[in-house]
Amino acid sequence: MADVKKIAVIAGDGIGPEVVAEAEKVLKRTEELFGYQFETEHALFGGIAIDEKGTPLPEETLKVCQSADAVLLGAVGGPKWDNNSKELRPETGLLGIRKALGLFSNIRPAFIFDCLKEASTLKPEVLEGTDLIVVRELTGGIYFGEKFRRETANGQEAVDTCAYNVNEIERIARQAFEIARTRRKKLASVDKANVLETSRLWREVVIRVSADYPDVELEHVLVDNCAMQLLRRPSSFDVIVTENMFGDILSDEAAMLTGSIGMLASASLGEGSFGLYEPVHGSAPDIAGQGISNPIATILSVALMFRLTFGYHEAADSIERAVAEVLDAGHRTGDIAVDKSKAIGTIAMGQLIVDAM
Ligand code: ATP
Ligand code: MG
Repeated sequence: MADVKKIAVIAGDGIGPEVVAEAEKVLKRTEELFGYQFETEHALFGGIAIDEKGTPLPEETLKVCQSADAVLLGAVGGPKWDNNSKELRPETGLLGIRKALGLFSNIRPAFIFDCLKEASTLKPEVLEGTDLIVVRELTGGIYFGEKFRRETANGQEAVDTCAYNVNEIERIARQAFEIARTRRKKLASVDKANVLETSRLWREVVIRVSADYPDVELEHVLVDNCAMQLLRRPSSFDVIVTENMFGDILSDEAAMLTGSIGMLASASLGEGSFGLYEPVHGSAPDIAGQGISNPIATILSVALMFRLTFGYHEAADSIERAVAEVLDAGHRTGDIAVDKSKAIGTIAMGQLIVDAM
């Protein structure tokens, strides 16, 4: 009897349900091809949960997620709820679910599909071989430190404090080393240790943790240099680990290497193998309901789930290869099409990928 993996499926708002439906077809196809078993349970979250249950994160949804091995999320939010009070906003639900599930890192892979190189702002020869992951700390740093204003002799002054403790640094460092171990075994720890005390502690802790991972090559890169190297030789990076704000900026920069938001997967991880997987893009209310959204980011999020939570690398390879094959054959949704008149829809793209697996 194969071991059954439980996946909580949250379709969400806008294009969320359209792209998640295609990702679920990929799950089904994986069962047929590889003999794995998945049990999916759907739950309401975000705007639709506000409309139907009066809260973005119903207790029931949290229970479904907590009893699952992984969560697949479409997208949440939209103009309908933008002017709601704080507790009735979809984004509040996102913060709540991260906290309740103990998710402390955000993972974003960026790799290049050969046939999409022309869509990037960088030259094809610079992009060649780019395949990296940014691991961003999510719970600490300047975003969560004490903030206040005070009057001084020179007028009003504002203060944001940046704090990190050893435990917060250690757990994200371990996670990044573990991920590097499943890849090309190179970790770049990004900090600003020439200026910041938090960065000096960060570096000390990362060096200490590295003793447990002698097979992984560790380098320390200053954040300004990293921002530059991402554009000059992105292929030199394998796994990048960094604190909250640096990660926020660098993961957006890395995302642009691939050209389109409709292609990018992400994961939020906590202790153990549990993870929440979602496309980087939002609910795209401007195209919702038209059947033209690109399902690839969500489908690649399933591949990421297979790698990081289940260790199903062969199945992940199969998905990624299928996506590359379909793109190589010239099929494009509107967001990545050069000739928009030849663009195909969400369902057609999903089916082509399933067939190519
Ligand atoms: P959020 O506020 O939720 O982060 P946003 O409104 O800033 O989201 P998106 O919802 O990601 O951004 O949409 C940005 C643009 O990209 C929109 O024009 C949208 O139509 C387009 N877009 C986003 N995702 C996709 C997709 N999967 N397929 C095609 N186009 C997309
Ligand atoms: Mg938006």
